Amino acid sequence: MKLFTMKFGGTSVGSPEAMAQVVEIVKGDVDAGHGVIVVVSAMSGVTDSLIDAARKAASGNKWGYLSTAETLRERHTEALEQLTDEGEDRDRTLAQVNALIDDFVNVCNAINILGELTPRMMDAIVSFGERLSSRVIAAAMRAQGVQSRQYDASQFIVTDDHYQSANPLWADTESNIRNHLLPVLEEGITPIITGFIGQTQDGVMTTLGRGGSDYSGAIFAAASDSDELIIWTDVDGVMTTDPRIDKRARVLPYVSYNEVGELAFYGAKVLHPKTVQPILDKKIPMRVRNTFNPTFEGTLIGPASTPSATVIKAVTAVRNVGLLTVSGRGMIGVPGIAGRAFLTTAKAGANILMISQASSEQSFCFVVMDDRSSKVKAAIEQEFVQEIAQRNIDQIELLEDVVILTVVGSGMRGTPGIAGRVFNTMGAHDINVVAIAQGASECSISFVIDEINLERAVIALHELALEAVAVV
Ligand code: ASP
Ligand code: MG
Repeated sequence: MKLFTMKFGGTSVGSPEAMAQVVEIVKGDVDAGHGVIVVVSAMSGVTDSLIDAARKAASGNKWGYLSTAETLRERHTEALEQLTDEGEDRDRTLAQVNALIDDFVNVCNAINILGELTPRMMDAIVSFGERLSSRVIAAAMRAQGVQSRQYDASQFIVTDDHYQSANPLWADTESNIRNHLLPVLEEGITPIITGFIGQTQDGVMTTLGRGGSDYSGAIFAAASDSDELIIWTDVDGVMTTDPRIDKRARVLPYVSYNEVGELAFYGAKVLHPKTVQPILDKKIPMRVRNTFNPTFEGTLIGPASTPSATVIKAVTAVRNVGLLTVSGRGMIGVPGIAGRAFLTTAKAGANILMISQASSEQSFCFVVMDDRSSKVKAAIEQEFVQEIAQRNIDQIELLEDVVILTVVGSGMRGTPGIAGRVFNTMGAHDINVVAIAQGASECSISFVIDEINLERAVIALHELALEAVAVV
């Protein structure tokens, strides 16, 4: 008997038909004698609509959030009615759904009256999506004879109070899962747990960040010592590149934790970037599989990296970024300039996606998302106002129509060959590389190019990755 943690994403629970598919997948393993911890997302689109409703509440649009509440009520009721039979269990679940929606309206009313929306209130609002979907799915499981029970993850996952992107407190979380969840499984019950949410030590609702249900899945898998974490989604696995850019994109049969971490960080939408963290130490294998193509094996993700000097596994792109350059002759040998620039960037609320410095020390550049880039530029100019006045530092330059391309493959570790091939390819296609950086785990190279060259560059580099599919 094995223990699996299975996480189902928004589209996998997005309709009654999809939910029925989820039930079938879980039931298959439960009937075969395995234990399954099920972690679910909100139904597709629900989290976005909750965020929208909260904003409407804050701006006094009462009709707006009331209409969201009715849409949510209909959608969950309809799913419940399609997936369960008339009777006590359905009625009880329906009452829970209605009570949650009433709570949601109450929180919106409070936001409406206060006219203010704090990150803490936003977390309370978005938690409703998973709390609703999980109850419907648990009832659907029971209707098919799977003994199951719904749980809010806030019972288990303890976090700090960094609302909207809370960090789990591992010791408490692990002991909650071991002491309160594992016994449930031993009783033969299949727990259906909300992804995405947690709770502070004081009992305040938090969320782990957008797309955070993957991370929740990994937390449950690690704390329960699951044999495997399966991320069920709507694509066949981790792909060599975005199939909308190059339709030759293929599913990779195997990638390492490091590789998938880089892929997720640099734009592959398939996994939340933090997903691998909890399972790294215990080396729990993870699989990305397609709920709508369940016989396909998907992509296996594990600890072993299989270096090969020729292997580029995947190419990803991050759009909507800006490249900031700090330069000036007066920077040479002056310590602390980069430190101050990065601290200022953090204070402006921007994440740095990539950093690169030329060895001459006369300049360094870094990449942030577009929506923050002008703010960061202004903040850095402010920080260095004296240096700029003394001409030790030039005006800060911001380049906006650029993208980051990342080539991933553990074969890059210590093998200059790959970087060479990558840059030859760019040269052969006359694509100017604006900046270059190597990923910390040494299994990726990122570079900045003009946005207009994006598709050409991805297709050219993807040629190299396609060769790799044959090798792995
Ligand atoms: N429902 C949340 C979101 O859309 C969490 C998740 O689906 O992973 O961000
Ligand atoms: Mg999602």
